[in-house]
Amino acid sequence: MSTRSPRSSEPSASASASRVHDEAAHLLTRAHRYAEDYLRSLDSRPVAPGPSDIERLEALGGKLPSEPSDATETLALLHEHGSPATQAQAGGRYFGFVNGATLPIGLAARWLGDTWDQNTAHYVMSPVGLHLEEVCERWLAELLGLPSTSAAGFVTGTMTANLSGLAAGRNELLRRAGHDVARDGLRASPELKVVVGEGAHAAIAKALSLLGLGSGSAIVVPQDERGAMRVDALPDLDELTLVALQVGNVNTGAADPIRDVCSRAREAGAWTHIDGAFGLWAAASRRHRELCDGIELADSWALDAHKTLNAPYDSGVVLCRDRMALARAFEASADYFQWSERRDGMTYTPSMSKRARAVELWAILRTLGRRGVEELVDQLCEHARLLAGRLTAEGFQLHNEVVFNQVLVSCESDVATRATLENVQGSGEIWCGGTTYRGRSMIRLSVCSWVTDSADIERAVACLVASRAATRS
Ligand SMILES: *Cc1c(COP(=O)(O)O)cnc(C)c1O
Repeated sequence: MSTRSPRSSEPSASASASRVHDEAAHLLTRAHRYAEDYLRSLDSRPVAPGPSDIERLEALGGKLPSEPSDATETLALLHEHGSPATQAQAGGRYFGFVNGATLPIGLAARWLGDTWDQNTAHYVMSPVGLHLEEVCERWLAELLGLPSTSAAGFVTGTMTANLSGLAAGRNELLRRAGHDVARDGLRASPELKVVVGEGAHAAIAKALSLLGLGSGSAIVVPQDERGAMRVDALPDLDELTLVALQVGNVNTGAADPIRDVCSRAREAGAWTHIDGAFGLWAAASRRHRELCDGIELADSWALDAHKTLNAPYDSGVVLCRDRMALARAFEASADYFQWSERRDGMTYTPSMSKRARAVELWAILRTLGRRGVEELVDQLCEHARLLAGRLTAEGFQLHNEVVFNQVLVSCESDVATRATLENVQGSGEIWCGGTTYRGRSMIRLSVCSWVTDSADIERAVACLVASRAATRS
């Protein structure tokens, strides 16, 4: 590193500084070209890599090199052997899990933000990163109709966001009962009752296990035929109850009866957390907001920008009505920390150092605006309904009411469904996953990419029809 006088506004002319710039610029130009090639290939290439593409990954293995080598060559290798071995989820024919693609502005802002190389643990480390966190915190609460003073933590994904919201809830309920669990642990603490829905995502059990609440010791409320919590089966709630609700069942897209449960929980002094990884975005759409009815009554919320909003990975958000409850859950101190009057990112997250996720989130929200987010949500849901209708017309059995972007279908038997899915996954034409739901094998399609258009839906239908026909001959 060359030395520079403090606050000098003159760019350093030192050789080493310009070398950093030249090499980065050269590599970024290459990366740009590879990225462009990649994006252009998405329409025509197979969605899933073939066996030979996977085999060629060996070229990226072998022994750890003992000597340095040319970075240009490293990047070229990555593109040559890495790009073909990706799942083409950035395109319009990937219907797996609930993954989403990346909006161009999200990708571009990410590139710029990555170039800045910001750490958002403390304000002093990144004024811009923390400023954008503050803006996104406010914009998200407004967009989703949550209390305007809610705190937001920018985390890796909904798994961590669930962990964060449930940690805040656990600590706060116990604090009200006179127990400091952060300091004294769970050993001598009053017992918490944890209530989850039968359809809760595996991330809830994992979060409960990490929090010492036990992944298997919660009261499980049965779900109805839509995959929503049965409110009539809800146990008694009290001021030591932590309730985990869901908007967006991963199979059916259904939402738990949020308003009913949250109203009862508030009366009882219980804490309600909502896992709305992909479904909470329904709140941004007038046509789909009903799914989120009553969410503003909950205490904490978790969602993914990298799903429905089509932000790049990894981008999850925890929101919490009680700012201090979230902050207390992640309290940490060290002599070298430098707290600011403004926001310090680690106040609201389990992590300390972290990248500036709010950069691309801000850029997407700034570009789409309220109406653009609504149109994105509506477009995904409309294509899901189109897909469900077309598959039903082709003789597939539909197993969910398509209330959001998830479509669950089967063939005439479990054997036929599984064989059809295998053909689909091997086709390269589209990619989607399978599941077992209500004891039956199913094919699960999620319309989560902004790229997907009605032509992609037709290709998906044709692929499923052909894959099923191939199992019959
Ligand atoms: C995806 C998902 C999660 C986990 O989110 P990650 O971003 O993978 O951490 C949790 N809950 C639901 C409902 C999900 O769809």
